[in-house]
Amino acid sequence: MACDMCGSEKKLFECRVEGVVLNVCIDCSKHGTIIKKTIEKPPIKTIVEKSLEKEETIQIIKHDYNSIIKNKRELKGLKQKELAKKIAEKESVIHNIESRHMEPSIALAKKLENFLGIKLIKEYKEKKISLEKEDSGSLTIGDIMKTKD
Ligand SMILES: [Zn+2]
Repeated sequence: MACDMCGSEKKLFECRVEGVVLNVCIDCSKHGTIIKKTIEKPPIKTIVEKSLEKEETIQIIKHDYNSIIKNKRELKGLKQKELAKKIAEKESVIHNIESRHMEPSIALAKKLENFLGIKLIKEYKEKKISLEKEDSGSLTIGDIMKTKD
């Protein structure tokens, strides 16, 4: 295969040049945006398109956060007000959390975890696949696969 623009027999890339998709060499690809590497030989095996796979750790607050906090607080013999003071929060914050009127932020959950010696945050890994987008750099496109640990 030869480059659509200069005819040279180099490694080719599928490239969008002024709205037209061409197979061009790396030099000519500078005139446009590379979409993907062109498969040079007919594929024998299934070729997995290379995409950027990123793994992100997602943190979520456990569903029963309120009872975890309440139980441990009571075990420690602390009143809501006292717990609030210990972690430099308002009493109403603790009240709202324990009555499920408010879900603690990750930062607040961490404070509570550290102070009470509990686990409130659940972590799971999320795989994100990002593909190159035509004109404006890379964009994360949909397909999110969730993996539980
Ligand atoms: Zn070329």
